[in-house]
Amino acid sequence: MTSVRTTCAYCGVGCGVLATPTGERGVTIKGDPDHPANAGKLCSKGTHLGETIGLEGRLLTPMIGQRRASWDKALDLVARRFRDTIAQYGPNSVAFYVSGQLLTEDYYVANKLMKGFIGSANIDTNSRLCMASAVAGHTRAFGEDIVPAAYDDLDVADLIVLVGSNTAWCHPIVYQRIRARCEADAKLVVIDPRRTETADEADLHLAIRPGTDVALMNGLLAWCRDAGVVDHDYLTRHVATPDAFWDQVGDGSDLWSVARTCDVSPQDLRRFFELFAATPRTVTLFSQGVNQSLSGTDQVNAITNLHLATGRIGKPGAAPFSITGQPNAMGGREVGGLASSLAAHMDFAPENVARVGRFWAAPNMATKPGLKAVDLFRELGTGRIKALWVMATNPAVSMPDAGSVREALAACPFVVVSDVVATTDTSVHAHVRLPAAAWGEKDGTVTNSDRTISRQRAFLAAPGEAKPDWWIVSQVGRRMGWKSAFPYDRPAEIWREHCRLSAYENNGARLFALPGHAAKGNAEYDAMTPFRWGGTPFADGRFSTPDGRARLIPVEQKPVAAPLKQWPMTLNTGRYRDQWHSMTRTGLSPKLARHREEPLVEIHPDDAARLGIVDGGLARVSTPQGDSVFRASVAATQRIRELFVPIHWTDRTATGGRAGLLPRPLADPISGQPGFKSTPVRIEAV
Ligand code: SF4
Repeated sequence: MTSVRTTCAYCGVGCGVLATPTGERGVTIKGDPDHPANAGKLCSKGTHLGETIGLEGRLLTPMIGQRRASWDKALDLVARRFRDTIAQYGPNSVAFYVSGQLLTEDYYVANKLMKGFIGSANIDTNSRLCMASAVAGHTRAFGEDIVPAAYDDLDVADLIVLVGSNTAWCHPIVYQRIRARCEADAKLVVIDPRRTETADEADLHLAIRPGTDVALMNGLLAWCRDAGVVDHDYLTRHVATPDAFWDQVGDGSDLWSVARTCDVSPQDLRRFFELFAATPRTVTLFSQGVNQSLSGTDQVNAITNLHLATGRIGKPGAAPFSITGQPNAMGGREVGGLASSLAAHMDFAPENVARVGRFWAAPNMATKPGLKAVDLFRELGTGRIKALWVMATNPAVSMPDAGSVREALAACPFVVVSDVVATTDTSVHAHVRLPAAAWGEKDGTVTNSDRTISRQRAFLAAPGEAKPDWWIVSQVGRRMGWKSAFPYDRPAEIWREHCRLSAYENNGARLFALPGHAAKGNAEYDAMTPFRWGGTPFADGRFSTPDGRARLIPVEQKPVAAPLKQWPMTLNTGRYRDQWHSMTRTGLSPKLARHREEPLVEIHPDDAARLGIVDGGLARVSTPQGDSVFRASVAATQRIRELFVPIHWTDRTATGGRAGLLPRPLADPISGQPGFKSTPVRIEAV
């Protein structure tokens, strides 16, 4: 049978896949040798994609309550309940919570319906949990949410600094590329409180105290200034530097003070600083360890400051590089799938609201940002959100303080869940469930971490009555009274409209623009090959701010909170190599399950001995939000008084191991991204 070129669904690396149907929903999976992200390679999750597309547990028909319903009846009900709620309580009484698993076309239609027609910006995405701090940091520094790096940069960098990223597990194909470069002659520095598989192979690992990244980066910047590495010519020509910026950066000779704050050896710190200062071609790649912090945006800007001040941006092998978790977090950013952005990298400035309103011929444009995820679910809990539509995500597991999220969902007067899975921790609270087409059954585009846009293509028939998300949302929009605004019959039409909007009245002020694709026909869309937009951003030294200059952003290290008497440990959460999110799909693969069969709490041997916790024994982790029992893994990979648990297990997959119950519902005040990495907790043997 003929192979279909598509893209992996399991992380933001965005690897190309050749899928060959073998009948009876069977498929063989190979890496696409022509895809620029992976050149034919796949990690374990990609390799076993074929095991995760079975029909076990699928939602195959619309459901109203526990009864099967026709599409007409279910869609009419959703449209009527949203319309009635808006009529009675206003547009801000409803919300959508969507997902980085959606395709760009799905995202575009949902964003258009909420922000242009319902008249609220209460559409946020689980990508808020993944990279909102990078979005906010990029926008503050560059004037637009641009990732100014590409995977090619890793191939020519002489120093790669990984900050808060277990790349070997979470972005394995990118890690292979990094390893290949380091096996030649590049150096690898890992900055991470945990000694991960990635850190094990680094030339230098700085296991800093969690939350001290700003002190580290400011100290490095001061060192660079004193070592004469700051590129004053670049700053003069291309960067706006606020008064007193350098005063707050501090004294570069005070290495001891930085080492004390970060709790690392001054010798290691000096080694890192000297290496960075001496290596113009440096890529600083960062991920959730930076973004999922209560000061995540400042941490991002501490990194952008370093690269701007040393002129290490817009050049091959020199850039800050935010790597995204989800397969289409970037596509969501491009269409405006976050409550804090409007569309096509535009914010809610009045001229942008007017511009997008003209383009959409929108009757009810949202004029200000909506509720970000943590606030959205808090408002759900207060009863101010009265109708919620959750698409392709499982917030009852993944949000911080997930127990409260579950209570809020249970109390909400009207909850719609569109998903491929029949029963999730979230959908048990749904009044209406709508069956969505899954990976391999739907068509559209995704954007990966280095701005490469690729096609996802269908190679299986959608089972039962499952439909693509863009179709479901369009149908509801039509039934709410906006028939002509949602006329789409196929995703190519939505893609072309998205490309037209990206270029509409865009005189080059925004880098994100795909005008060439707006004119392409269906056949060209079907045949689309991966392409990266934006070339080498900022190569000409011109940024997306009104004056064309980037910004150095003054950022200060916030005091690190002392351990609390009742909650003396700090909890960090993250992924396992072979699982994805709440395991609704990867949990179907026996081979993937072998890597880690149950959720473990990782604890330092000194803590374990002090608390009577034994390796392989059970331990309860508690916070004011909730508690859960995990099997203990005692290892010196953790810092003392710091714990790690995985995010994947749910009430549906285990009796314990519920990480989502534990974190506080607190977020970075600028980006709204929850601070999953430093929850005060207690642990005790069970
Ligand atoms: Fe899929 Fe990510 Fe693995 Fe590539 S690295 S195969 S995109 S999970």
